[in-house]
Amino acid sequence: VYNFSAGPACLPEWVLKKAQEEMLDAHGSGMSVMEMSHRSSEFQEILDTCKARLRRLMNIPDDYEILFCQGGGTMQFSMVPLNLLKHSADIINTGQWTKKAIMEHKKLGKTQVIASSAEDNFTHIPKIKQEDLTPDSDYVYICENNTIYGTKYKELPPHEGKLLVADLSSCILSERTDVSKYDLIFAGAQKNMGPAGVTVVIIKKDLIGHAKENIPSLLDYKTYADNDSMYNTPPCYAIYMVGLVLQWLEEEIGGLEEMEKLTRKRASLLYDYIDQSKLYSNPVAKEDRSYTNIPFVTGDAELDKKFVKEANEAGLVNLKGHRTVGGMRASLYNAMPMEGVYALIDFMKKFEKENLA
Ligand code: PLP
Repeated sequence: VYNFSAGPACLPEWVLKKAQEEMLDAHGSGMSVMEMSHRSSEFQEILDTCKARLRRLMNIPDDYEILFCQGGGTMQFSMVPLNLLKHSADIINTGQWTKKAIMEHKKLGKTQVIASSAEDNFTHIPKIKQEDLTPDSDYVYICENNTIYGTKYKELPPHEGKLLVADLSSCILSERTDVSKYDLIFAGAQKNMGPAGVTVVIIKKDLIGHAKENIPSLLDYKTYADNDSMYNTPPCYAIYMVGLVLQWLEEEIGGLEEMEKLTRKRASLLYDYIDQSKLYSNPVAKEDRSYTNIPFVTGDAELDKKFVKEANEAGLVNLKGHRTVGGMRASLYNAMPMEGVYALIDFMKKFEKENLA
């Protein structure tokens, strides 16, 4: 099947096969990575290699730390304010995942929603100016790619004199990212990096060690930085799988410049088809369209249901849109082969022919 799930999402076949090969005997240890002590030299090597690959692939400068946390993207909605919010936070509301971040922020400190596209059902990215920022705010917080609504920042918002914090859960590694433009990036692994269970945090080193007092150790970035992300048992197998995905990106794909070309090609094939179609439409402002999550509707809820059912029968699975949006959504992450996009478009054409009144 071709799996269009928004997450957990499909993984490259190369990665799954390699994991299968190494399942019973990883790195000559005679055991699975699942059975290894996280204090063993074998696992240390897995972790070190994974970090080094991520640093190379994303060109992460030396003054940034890479941390492996648990608790998903959702735990970052609390960890970010616990570690960085001193006066107040400015958040741009672009959908479900910023709403949740706003909710957690409000429990922990002064929070302003400085712009929102809620009144347009989040079909665009609100544009802000430097003067929209709150004078005493510590940082501007964005969700760079909005998984549910299918929007993406193509340009970062102005944030002079402030830190920039970004949730890259659904676009990390799909394109080149200039890490030096951000102060903190986080992303759950389960869309573009590996299985659920590990969340990657890329943070400027000088921001570590200033958390609120008396917070639980596991909510303080310093605990992770001081202990090489192994203060407690890390999600060993998930980290190993992320390492394999990064190896695939480096050795099989040829890096993020190449992946960016594939990402853009997958998206433009589908958008071009949708835009000329008489049956389907995509509600998102063209300049803000996501490259990885593409919602579309027929305008008839019953027909949408029929589409999802018949697509599923044709081996094109997980195309149902998020419950807050309806319709369909195709998530085209790194592991989606081009053939999957062609198969989807062929199916859409056939369905259009059969169902256009
Ligand atoms: N941020 C974004 C952009 C997401 O798409 C998601 C989940 O889909 C989350 C955060 C929440 O992540 P998690 O389920 O890992 O907590």
